[in-house]
Amino acid sequence: MDARPSTRPDRRTFAIISHPDAGKTTLTEKLLLFGGAIHAAGEVKARGAARRARSDWMKIEQQRGISVTSSVMTFERDGLTFNLLDTPGHEDFSEDTYRTLTAVDSAVMVIDAARGIEAQTRKLFEVCRLRSVPIITFINKVDREGREPFSLLDEIADQLALDVAPMNWPVGMGGMFEGLYDLEGQRLMRPAADGTAAFEGDVTAVSGLDDPRLAAAISADALARLTEETELAGAGYAAFDAEAYRHGDLTPVYFGSALKDFGVAELIDALARFAPSPRPQPADPAPVSPDDQAVTGFIFKVQANMNPMHRDRVAFMRLCSGRFRRGMKLTQVGTGKAISVHSPILFFARERETAEEAWPGDIIGIPNHGTLRVGDTLTDGAPRVITGLPNFAPELLRRVALKDPTKTKQLRKALDDLAEEGIIQVFYPEIGSQWVVGVVGQLQLEVLVSRLEVEYKVDARLEASPWDTARWIAGSEADLKSFAEFHRGGLARDRDDALVFMAKDAWEVNYVAGRYPAIRFSATRERA
Ligand code: GDP
Repeated sequence: MDARPSTRPDRRTFAIISHPDAGKTTLTEKLLLFGGAIHAAGEVKARGAARRARSDWMKIEQQRGISVTSSVMTFERDGLTFNLLDTPGHEDFSEDTYRTLTAVDSAVMVIDAARGIEAQTRKLFEVCRLRSVPIITFINKVDREGREPFSLLDEIADQLALDVAPMNWPVGMGGMFEGLYDLEGQRLMRPAADGTAAFEGDVTAVSGLDDPRLAAAISADALARLTEETELAGAGYAAFDAEAYRHGDLTPVYFGSALKDFGVAELIDALARFAPSPRPQPADPAPVSPDDQAVTGFIFKVQANMNPMHRDRVAFMRLCSGRFRRGMKLTQVGTGKAISVHSPILFFARERETAEEAWPGDIIGIPNHGTLRVGDTLTDGAPRVITGLPNFAPELLRRVALKDPTKTKQLRKALDDLAEEGIIQVFYPEIGSQWVVGVVGQLQLEVLVSRLEVEYKVDARLEASPWDTARWIAGSEADLKSFAEFHRGGLARDRDDALVFMAKDAWEVNYVAGRYPAIRFSATRERA
């Protein structure tokens, strides 16, 4: 073993969070293109278009394999490797989306300049905040009529309780768009004849807003406005502070247009310059540092493989420390099982490629037959458990009714499997025999019914339940006992046997929680 952590190549491992239609697919495509085109841009686009059609999406989900290769996209720029983890973009997302955010070191938040912060943006942002994931904001579509920059910046600051630091400024928007002004580098980027930034485009370096080159390049009106607005912005918003950004207290904001290539190169540069390298991971008994020699990683996602007839799965492992080499034997902490990783999937390059080695920040796909579960830690060193991977509170709870009662065993297996994949959460009530599934979006329910039928040959129906939310509860034995006396009807166990209180809505949760101050109610359950 060589002990040369200094040879560890650096990574930027990140995700894009956004509301559907804000431009995530377009930006992804451009990042890959600007970053040494690893996937052809068209491929990403096609996938995005297909994804929007619900029926197509179901098919894709059933065939699975497709999204295995696109779950992690890798590109390089100036010798630095970026791992972009895909978060499914449709309106209903699963726990899967949230979990992906546990495997990144930073995020890019894409906002539509005409729409500002939308529901999904906020939800995903909350997950990032939970883990203090630093966020770079990209306000997209400045080539179209959008809202005033100030209104957008204030909205981010107010709604997300974040300091905002504008890094560039649009010179007009929509029909009046004349380019972007880089506030830090004092450069003007103007559209090429075709209206795009033509990759790195037409860039004029200036000495400041009073530089005659600026006056020559844009209209007098635009210059007057730019001068006034940037002055106001300078006085009204925080200056960029790398520390505050890394703590998740401040977001640098880039205006741009993914479609027209504006701001894309600047965004990649910002990721390279400011976004954190792989960070130490909280773990028991001690945090895992990327420079530790032992190879350690955790599974953040499990996906069934292409062929539904085989129970093959791919577990996605985020590498946290050490230098992974193909063929390595890793131990599944908890069971002590040794797993030889002979055919890992590394996500570099055009297609799946068999990896020889990987470094902290990289994602490795490990084919297995169901041994590996979300939340598992794998290591070749002393047993350690990576912590801080939360389960999320479901927002829809449904009872599962079996049409053929002789299939109970298959149903249980199926629900446990799908819960393991993060498609659903499953709750086994203390009273009654009907199992309950919890999801965060309607689409997950459709995926569930379809997969039960296709993959498990179980014909099931989902029925209304008296509950729509759930909380993990913890407390002393005596407190839990007295709680159970009055609330047994709402108690259930999750698949790991943890106690859950199911409630009609958040109001009921608050009401009940108020009456049992000794009991902890949590919307998320951290895996110990
Ligand atoms: P996603 O749902 O977030 O992945 O969004 P897409 O990338 O599919 O974009 C949604 C729509 O917005 C598509 O029609 C894009 O062509 C369009 N779009 C994306 N970026 C821009 C942009 O910078 N300017 C303009 N005018 N349209 C854009």
